[in-house]
Amino acid sequence: MKSDIEIAREARKRPIGEIAAKLGLGPHDFLPYGHDKAKITHEFIGRLNGHRHGRLVLVTAINPTPAGEGKTTTTVGLGDALNRIGRRATICIREASLGPNFGMKGGAAGGGMAQIVPMEEMNLHFTGDFHAVTSAHNLLAALIDNHIHWGNALRIDPRRVTWRRVIDMNDRALRQTTVALGGPSNGHPRESGFDITVASEVMAILCLASDLADLQARLGRIIVAETFDRQPVTARELQADGAMTALLRDALQPNLVQTLENNPALVHGGPFANIAHGCNSVVATRTALATSDYVVTEAGFGADLGAQKFLDIKCRLAGLSPAAVVLVATVRALKMNGGVARADLGTENVPALEAGCANLGRHIENLRGYGLPVVVAINHFTSDTETEIAAVRDYCAGHGVQAVLCRHWAEGGKGAEELARAVARLAEGDEARFEKLYPDEMSLWQKIETICKRIYRADHVEAPPAIHEKLAEWQAAGHGSLPVCMAKTQYSFSADPSALGAPSGFTIPLREVRLSAGAGFVVAICGDIMTMPGLPRVPAAVRIGLDERGRIDGLF
Ligand code: ADP
Ligand code: MG
Repeated sequence: MKSDIEIAREARKRPIGEIAAKLGLGPHDFLPYGHDKAKITHEFIGRLNGHRHGRLVLVTAINPTPAGEGKTTTTVGLGDALNRIGRRATICIREASLGPNFGMKGGAAGGGMAQIVPMEEMNLHFTGDFHAVTSAHNLLAALIDNHIHWGNALRIDPRRVTWRRVIDMNDRALRQTTVALGGPSNGHPRESGFDITVASEVMAILCLASDLADLQARLGRIIVAETFDRQPVTARELQADGAMTALLRDALQPNLVQTLENNPALVHGGPFANIAHGCNSVVATRTALATSDYVVTEAGFGADLGAQKFLDIKCRLAGLSPAAVVLVATVRALKMNGGVARADLGTENVPALEAGCANLGRHIENLRGYGLPVVVAINHFTSDTETEIAAVRDYCAGHGVQAVLCRHWAEGGKGAEELARAVARLAEGDEARFEKLYPDEMSLWQKIETICKRIYRADHVEAPPAIHEKLAEWQAAGHGSLPVCMAKTQYSFSADPSALGAPSGFTIPLREVRLSAGAGFVVAICGDIMTMPGLPRVPAAVRIGLDERGRIDGLF
């Protein structure tokens, strides 16, 4: 089998105008970025108000192996397959962050015969959205230090500025820095640091905003610091929201590209999946729903984090309601959840696989708890054996759920037609009775407990008094109706990444809480969360370059 980039290069792409026409866009409804990328205009999106709504399908997964389980690949394969069986389907996924591409993550455009193209650009600068987010974020940072420098009318306590700077690069040397060194003309020295762009609250805001006015309102609500009297200082008070919105105007327009099979894909936004909600933009999802029969979208990490946040943050804030959920499982990840070491995943091991199925079973139960019909997609790897696949099918049948073997990675949309038919059956049977996990009115602490107990199945949630005080303070300040965004390891239901399968009898230790008042959620951090990744000993960057024909090489 050829590598992802080799397959992507051989794609028979159609001009982007033809793809736009599939969504009913006229020549003035999109802004071409070259021949194979376009942005859908704010004007067109504004006119969609009240348009018929398509069916929303969420692709999520069991707790993953470090390599990823193929959620994006399955999202693309399912989208192509739905088109093959006569449903007009659009794919909605996140944009890629530069930093991890040069580290070890690999691309974000799917894989094998289920990819979105142009893969190289999607994984590099694309249409510049992330650069715009970086600029808007850093403009606010510059305005804060400038405000302090010119007399500090708002009485910002320089020791309590929480707004850091961002860059779209894995660069551990920037995690902690000192700014404004070099004398009075350079400002007031203080400690600060950098996060990666995708961890910026501006990114989360871009992905939750419904239009430009809402974008500006949310940007204005960002809390950047405290005054000497410990009162919050917002971006609005610094009058930063207008200029930030100006920088983000084009970035809020969703990017249209295509799959290898020439079906439309909206690739837009890319918030971190730990301290943020990890979903593509609300604007892209709504636009796709108004112009297609089906929208297939992905949530980051396993269903305990990704689907939970998709349903309780994105769907809640945007008023979305999924028609069906696809739960991606691989024989490899199930074996790993059953205790097999990463190096031994290629060997048949049915007992371990059966033990690992407990992880799958708990995700099925959780998703059904939301009132959503579920189908399991077994993403086929060449090392899977017939006996192993039969064992997964039997397990799912025992839980009253269909499991479908999918070969989209090897065969493209054709390999996922059975999955597409299963999804269409569930979605068109109108079985979904979507119910969020908790009501807005529940207190912040109870929301955290509800997620930990009902989704993770923890016995207790432990938090120092300082966290309870913070939550009570936000509750009193009128932020109590916000949803909670959990930051936890993706590898386990618990906070311990080595507790695989379906652990029980554990406590979730809450380390820290943060208020993302602009994005509109409270972040609950349980464990070490890295907001500025580093590069590995041998970064992917050493293999990336141009080939003799000037084509980009080494992305994977
Ligand atoms: P996720 O979205 O869950 O992180 P991706 O879809 O991005 O996962 O896939 C992760 C990697 O695994 C990609 O490099 C992809 O090409 C590869 N991959 C996915 N499915 C398969 C498969 N069935 N066989 C081999 N490799 C696969
Ligand atoms: Mg993915």
